[in-house]
Amino acid sequence: GKTLRLILGDQLNQQHSWFGKKEGSVVYLMMEIRQETDYVQHHIQKVLAFFQSMRMFAQWLEKEGHQVIYLSIDHKENRQELGENIRFLIKKYNFKHFNYILPDEYRLDTQLRNICKQLEIETKSYDAEHFLSDRLAVKSFFSGKKTFLMESFYRSMREKYNILMDGKRPAEGKWNFDHENRNKFREETKIPPPPVFNRDIGPLLETIKKAGIKTIGEVDPKNFQWPCSREEALELLAHFCDKVLPHFGRYQDAMHSQNPFLFHSRLSFALNSKMLHPLEVIQNAAACQKQAPGKYGIAQVEGFIRQILGWREFMRGIYWAKMPDYALTNFFGHKRALPAFFWDGNTKMNCLHHAIKQSLDHAYAHHIQRLMVTGNFALLAGVDPDEVDQWYLGIYIDAIEWVEITNTRGMSQFADGGIVGTKPYVSSANYIDKMSDYCGSCHYSKTKKTGDKACPFNSLYWAFYERNREKLQNNPRIGFVYNTLSKMKQKDEILEQAERYLEKLDEL
Ligand code: FAD
Ligand code: SF4
Repeated sequence: GKTLRLILGDQLNQQHSWFGKKEGSVVYLMMEIRQETDYVQHHIQKVLAFFQSMRMFAQWLEKEGHQVIYLSIDHKENRQELGENIRFLIKKYNFKHFNYILPDEYRLDTQLRNICKQLEIETKSYDAEHFLSDRLAVKSFFSGKKTFLMESFYRSMREKYNILMDGKRPAEGKWNFDHENRNKFREETKIPPPPVFNRDIGPLLETIKKAGIKTIGEVDPKNFQWPCSREEALELLAHFCDKVLPHFGRYQDAMHSQNPFLFHSRLSFALNSKMLHPLEVIQNAAACQKQAPGKYGIAQVEGFIRQILGWREFMRGIYWAKMPDYALTNFFGHKRALPAFFWDGNTKMNCLHHAIKQSLDHAYAHHIQRLMVTGNFALLAGVDPDEVDQWYLGIYIDAIEWVEITNTRGMSQFADGGIVGTKPYVSSANYIDKMSDYCGSCHYSKTKKTGDKACPFNSLYWAFYERNREKLQNNPRIGFVYNTLSKMKQKDEILEQAERYLEKLDEL
């Protein structure tokens, strides 16, 4: 009998074993559906990148001789819902088998299992053949422990895949070169221009608009620079390894008002849509270091590899260990609404203005902007983690729940009470100024805690700790904060200043 095989929008893995064989009885199904465009308001570039990449993947499948049913968003037979489309097509073409690749989101995993339960034909699920650890690997690695330590998991992955190893020891004697990843960018090195992908995304943009999909953010349809095929993704990877990686680690945490991408790879979309395999990215970077250690210092390469072999796998493992309860966590009981300026960047706080504006323009901000500017502010201000999650899940090109929610709720908002991280990532203006050029031209004064034009981060920081004293004072990594706070002469004034700011967040 005939088999229908579903490929989701983030399963564009050309190397999957499904595609090695051509079978006349197999038909692949891909669909652009309102179910996926509407579960959160996405950035327009994110919808474009997914649809364009799916379309190019379907073309590749056909070129390889596979049969494909492609339901575009405006296809007249598109029911716009996963189960309805599957049931409709099974009936119409009399399929006898239904296959799918295990999805990465809890939401889709549950939905597909329910769909299969109701189907009267044989169903089967397959591994995604993408990640370097199983769904439940992190859960069993840390079984019985309250806190999951990324570093120990990462070391086990280095050993397992023999990456940057010197026999049983880490290359150059150390596992982690984090302390060498903390330079400010002073424009001393030129940022190499990325490859240009020539395409006009205008017609697809029209289709999306006509379908009535509500999106956020901006796009220049003549200049759409996200890789949308494996070939383009490989080109971006080669560019990164050749020209950018030699500087990666050094500027990993730096932020700059004129350079949204700095020395970051921008590979997250290609990885999360599975056009690239994490191991090929890691091995390419490791090979550079091995072949030309003079050009590629170990601190630059290790910093990059840690993100993919460590953090990315670790976050996915946390997700499967802790969902669905993870999505409900709110350790601090935060309830405030996200300030309106998150949607237009219209704030006098220069760091937030830049981090938000570039997110709206490019569907991109790098890790430290997400963590130490927008995330830091939302946490200090006590914003409801549901609202914070919705924002991150919509705005970024790489935002898929398994990696968005663990980073946002966990690492950034500490809503899980300390599963991903051992203490909340919060800071005053001091850290932002150390890592960026934002403070120099800001309306607010980075050194002032109280009074006219005092930087909001400075008072909100202390108010956050005061407010959450009960929950945090026994944390051994935080004790020093409460010592400082108790000795502070200006304490009452600072807390009053924070109160005034919290009352008018939208006006900051
Ligand atoms: P690079 O800096 O070049 O890093 C290389 C790769 O490492 C990335 O492509 C990514 O695949 C991986 N990586 C780096 N950091 C992390 C991390 N913390 N967790 C998992 N993988 C990581 N990343 C997403 O892919 N999707 C998200 O929805 C997402 N949401 C985030 C929300 C918050 C609040 C924070 C603090 C971080 C989030 N991240 C997310 C992690 C990180 O910010 C992005 O992966 C990174 O900025 C993507 O840009 P890049 O490809 O240029 O990364
Ligand atoms: Fe941000 Fe404060 Fe610096 Fe202004 S002074 S850029 S608000 S940290």
